[in-house]
Amino acid sequence: MTDTTSSRTQPWKRTVYAGLVRPEHAGGEVTLLGWVQRQRDMGGLLFIDLRDREGIVQAVFSPERPELLEAAKKVRPEYVIGVRGVVRPRAAGAANAEMATGEVEVEARELKIFNAAKVPPFQVADPVQAAEELRMKYRYIDMRRPSRQRTFRLRHQAAQRTRAFLSGQGFLEIETPFLTKSTPEGARDYLVPSRIYKGRFYALPQSPQQFKQTLMIAGFDRYFQIVRCFRDEDLRAERQPEFTQIDIEMSFADREDIYDLTDGLMADIFEVIGEKVETPFPRLTYQESMDRYGTDKPDLSIRAQIADLTAEGAELSSEIVRQVLGTGGVLRGLKIGGGAGISRSQLDKIGDRAKCLGAQGVIWLKKQTEFKSSLKLSEPEARLLWEKMEAKDEDLVLLVADKAAVALPALGALRVELLRAGAEKGWAFTWVTDFPLFEWGNEEQKIVSVHHPFTSPFEEDIPHLETEPLRVRARAYDLVLNGYEIGGGSIRIHDFGLQRRIFKILGLSEKETEDKFGFFLEALGYGTPPHGGIAMGFDRIVMLLAGEESIREVIPFPKTTSALCLLTGSPTEVGEKQLDELGLQLKK
Ligand code: ASP
Repeated sequence: MTDTTSSRTQPWKRTVYAGLVRPEHAGGEVTLLGWVQRQRDMGGLLFIDLRDREGIVQAVFSPERPELLEAAKKVRPEYVIGVRGVVRPRAAGAANAEMATGEVEVEARELKIFNAAKVPPFQVADPVQAAEELRMKYRYIDMRRPSRQRTFRLRHQAAQRTRAFLSGQGFLEIETPFLTKSTPEGARDYLVPSRIYKGRFYALPQSPQQFKQTLMIAGFDRYFQIVRCFRDEDLRAERQPEFTQIDIEMSFADREDIYDLTDGLMADIFEVIGEKVETPFPRLTYQESMDRYGTDKPDLSIRAQIADLTAEGAELSSEIVRQVLGTGGVLRGLKIGGGAGISRSQLDKIGDRAKCLGAQGVIWLKKQTEFKSSLKLSEPEARLLWEKMEAKDEDLVLLVADKAAVALPALGALRVELLRAGAEKGWAFTWVTDFPLFEWGNEEQKIVSVHHPFTSPFEEDIPHLETEPLRVRARAYDLVLNGYEIGGGSIRIHDFGLQRRIFKILGLSEKETEDKFGFFLEALGYGTPPHGGIAMGFDRIVMLLAGEESIREVIPFPKTTSALCLLTGSPTEVGEKQLDELGLQLKK
């Protein structure tokens, strides 16, 4: 449907974005192109709010131009139109302070309807009134909202900043393949069957890890890429099957070089939203992080730390506590400032939550006029714990007596759940360093890499690799922001022999090693410089920049938490012919 109210042949070229019309345009003619936000027919004057990516401006149609008015009556929300007219200040008292263009309006002289639109499934407005599933199905309508337009502009700006910053530091942006071989990052691979070589498969990269290391061997000593990665992970709320990383690798680098570079990059990216973040970012070892925060992703915008009361616990007469400590357990505590008013039933709920987190329960201790506790404690015993916690009247102390591996994560989770509301505003970055190289994989029932198998161990721990693998520390680091892991990396193994040893400890046979990593091991033998790198979760960074709660909001075409694309309906079944061509047959 096209319709124009004028026979003028002037082409419909935008002269200014609707959202950018300002008083200084008054008196001048403008051509606006965009969508109808709403149309209000006042039975005389008719108003159309015209929206484009920069915002909304009001166009006015008056009875003085009856033909134009009639045409304007036909438009409906989300019609695509052009309006040519003259900008004028709004009448006194009619200015709208809520709109950036609210001091002016456009007196319409010409209207073109480029296209009609069906009634949209929800209104294009912030805050949106539609359920997320509906918004994902009609993503293109959802994305018309001003807040989405802002988000994707922010994403663009963050990407541009990244490119400019890293290029400025001498990094080259180099692409790596998507149709490739498995690169282990702890998830399942997405496989792509080969038509030409039936029965053979490409894997989509979980990360460009082996390629970026290969680029170091190839002499490109500073590499980066803003790159898509694919991981077929178990469904978790904040995971996407495909996501974007800022991937970085550099030769002859030690950990300090990576920290410096990343601190600078993050500070630069945060300038996009006008924030000045302080660098260098603080650092915690993995062990410190676990001891103080019960997690390797500590939210440092929450001040409270977990305290070790094991020594004090040993002085208590409580049978329960003694028993736990007698079998190698610990007593750890968390102070909830001003928490004495938390009701009995809420304390019970906290106890239940701790049980869900694997602990036996939670001991509470509070002091208003006198000590009260869920554990039988004498006054001096209570005082001993209280003073160690540096608690004062009206505080609450939560204690967990258990194995450290249970007590710490339980208190760590309670710390965040109970104290997040009182967290400080701002950006609490921290590096977490010195991770263990291996951990016990419950699913695999064998030792697995904490990061990936290319991570270099601490030099001084190498002698213990075979004998006590779980005590070996890695030259690995994560960057954490307000409790979110936003990046991670390591100094790599550049020694062929050491790399083989690691594969062996991971339980790979010679043949498996050869099949999976043959090309890479071969390459390592041809003059590999020492190197290291990092990858930053670009979606998560943009999510934090945009103040969103979910990465789905900052991914243009995201999948649901159950890995469906509601827009296209993928994944879909394929026909016999396509399967045949690939040499595949589906199990009945
Ligand atoms: N490849 C790693 C990852 O995707 C990051 C790195 O080690 O550079 O998590």
